[in-house]
Amino acid sequence: MTVSVNGQRLWQSLMDLARIGATPKGGNCRLALSVLDGQGRDLVVGWMREAGLAITVDQIGNIFGVRPGRDPQRRPVMTGSHIDTQPTGGRFDGCYGVMAGLEVMRTLNDHGITTEAPLALAIWTNEEGTRFVPVMMGSGVHCGVFPLETALTATDLDGLAVRDELAAIGYAGSAPIGTVQAACYLEAHIEQGPILEAEQTVVGVVTGSLGLRWYDVTVTGMEAHAGPTPMALRRDALYAATHLMQTVIEIANDPAFAPLGRGTVGVVRVHPASRNVIPGRVDFTVDLRHEDAALLDQMEQRFRVAAAALAAGETTGTRVDVQIVDVQQFSPTPFDRALVECVRSEARARGSSHRDIVTGAGHDAVYMARRVPTAMIFVPCKDGISHNEVEDADPRHLEAGANVLLGAMLAQAE
Ligand SMILES: [Zn+2]
Repeated sequence: MTVSVNGQRLWQSLMDLARIGATPKGGNCRLALSVLDGQGRDLVVGWMREAGLAITVDQIGNIFGVRPGRDPQRRPVMTGSHIDTQPTGGRFDGCYGVMAGLEVMRTLNDHGITTEAPLALAIWTNEEGTRFVPVMMGSGVHCGVFPLETALTATDLDGLAVRDELAAIGYAGSAPIGTVQAACYLEAHIEQGPILEAEQTVVGVVTGSLGLRWYDVTVTGMEAHAGPTPMALRRDALYAATHLMQTVIEIANDPAFAPLGRGTVGVVRVHPASRNVIPGRVDFTVDLRHEDAALLDQMEQRFRVAAAALAAGETTGTRVDVQIVDVQQFSPTPFDRALVECVRSEARARGSSHRDIVTGAGHDAVYMARRVPTAMIFVPCKDGISHNEVEDADPRHLEAGANVLLGAMLAQAE
């Protein structure tokens, strides 16, 4: 017998949660550890208790609700996400993953099903990183990415510390970090991008997250008067820099790296920015991404070779100085092959259209993937829009994604 979630109840819970911190345009504002975040937590923890989950709150305020299995020795099969939002956030980002997990627990209760392994539902503290950095704070501490103390001493713009704000809303938990350890982790989430909707596909089987590298680039030539300086004698920094900017896009579009390569120049500053002065210096940013670490290395290599050629005058016939500063990088995180296949086969078994997809955005699952087998389930969101009050999703898609989550959790907890 195939058990299925109650899509209507899932939708109703999402809408009930969305009443807390509702914004005029139909979105949500529940900044991490605000009074409204506290109210949202209270509501959901109440539902978790009603569903019979044993609640643990750890020292960074992560909430875990555990449903016992037949074998108490086994680590729980965990799902979860976050319920904090952006200042003009939507009703589904994060909340969907938590409500889908809750719906799984409720459904199993309805059918009187006990799994072999326990199941757990996690609500991670401060995923959004709007009010406090680092972003993905609760899962980051849980996974040992940064120390508890770093998170507790983080302050917002008003100088209020995470430690005090956790206490103020009643979620300064006493359980040591890592009290609840997962056997594996599954997270359902809206896609926050346009691919599933464009392809009219209901389930995204997430195979991993893109790696990212950020650079600051400075191209220096020579400022000179735009009139008296002949073209042949110029060292125009902007003319040179535009070649390298084009290269960033061309690298990402190269069949060797497409379709998962990404190349973006997001900020450009021209000096001295005067209409009758040949630009002497250009600063710009570069963002390179790929899901494959080796290919991301190659993208970077191509970029550096192009920069060297530009500096040597091979590209434009004029030498310029090119400086590249490494700003930040995240390694690509492939999800667990077997768990990803489990998600794929559940989608197939339930007759949901599905495709493999990578996440370009950060999620708690990306940190969890460093510690335990991890996979994600994406569902479409309207026009691919998220981090926006108009964020929307189709109840049928949310239900289908929750059913895949249910099936995958049952399979893992056998
Ligand atoms: Zn999210």
